[in-house]
Amino acid sequence: MIIVLKPKSSEPQIQEVAHAVKKFGYEPRIIRGVELTVIAAVGDERRHHTLESLTAFPQVDHVTAVQKRYKLVSRDFHKADTTVRVGGVLAGPGRFHVIAGPCSVETERQTLEVARAVRDAGATLLRGGAFKPRTSPYDFSGLGKEGLGILKKARQETGMPIVTEVMSPQDVEAVSDYADMLQIGTRNAQNFALLHAAGQSRKPVFLKRGMSATVEEWLNAAEHIAAQGNSNIILCERGIRTFETSTRFTLDLNAVAVAKKETHLPVFVDPSHGVGRADLIVPLARAAAAVDADGLMIEVHPDPKKALSDGAQQMTPDRFAELMAALRPFVELMGRKLG
Ligand code: PEP
Ligand code: MN
Repeated sequence: MIIVLKPKSSEPQIQEVAHAVKKFGYEPRIIRGVELTVIAAVGDERRHHTLESLTAFPQVDHVTAVQKRYKLVSRDFHKADTTVRVGGVLAGPGRFHVIAGPCSVETERQTLEVARAVRDAGATLLRGGAFKPRTSPYDFSGLGKEGLGILKKARQETGMPIVTEVMSPQDVEAVSDYADMLQIGTRNAQNFALLHAAGQSRKPVFLKRGMSATVEEWLNAAEHIAAQGNSNIILCERGIRTFETSTRFTLDLNAVAVAKKETHLPVFVDPSHGVGRADLIVPLARAAAAVDADGLMIEVHPDPKKALSDGAQQMTPDRFAELMAALRPFVELMGRKLG
């Protein structure tokens, strides 16, 4: 970290700050310029406390970090792309996986019908919400444990590993009994108690980006999971809040390109939530493949008109099969194998 002092700081003031730097575990190096004095705090910023609090000294002008706060998830720490195993599915370099299924598990029939259809079209993982975080308390909030039981049946029937959301730390154990991968949703993406509980479980974690989180905050959320000893993490860009109203959110493919540089973890894209409209999924799914994402999450419902959540963005099984066909050349162009 670099601590820039205000002009005309006295020697005792400089020494006071240098002493504080040392107390935080860094080695202070004082650099005296013509106008300004700067203190370089030498040490691994990812192992020590941040020094932002030093701005409380009246003689400190500002403090600048020179390293990112995340470490375990960073490419500086681990150069090669990580492969995450979910059941029998390997997500990461050379492959492109599509996670598909309904927004919510509504009935056994609905879930099994979608599961068979998406498997036949080439999806390799099944999604479905049993615990649903809803903006309004009056909306359908999922079948809970009954929904998990339905997902288990769908796995038995289709062989597809299950991805489902967990909303609270207390539920991590119960959801882990059914899920092959725990999903942490956008609304919980900085729920640190939940991130820690998911990190303590040894299940792979599918971490959505908070809808207002910077890429750095998203990667720090992943670091919270990894710091608990669980590095089986897949990141998912799912759209952020912007001024734009023609789509539900703005799918931020910039963030995918940035995340692919910054982290060795696989990065997926969820255009369904990103745009909120079924008619825009195909071009954005192709764009996601072209920006070198490792996979997609897509919502599919047998009859979206009757869906209990997210009807506008769910694809019918037929449209999903068309999507998979439209996607394949883009995936192959990127040197990946679909499925
Ligand atoms: C979901 O995938 O079902 C979901 C609620 O997504 P998000 O957290 O991205 O809104
Ligand atoms: Mn949904």
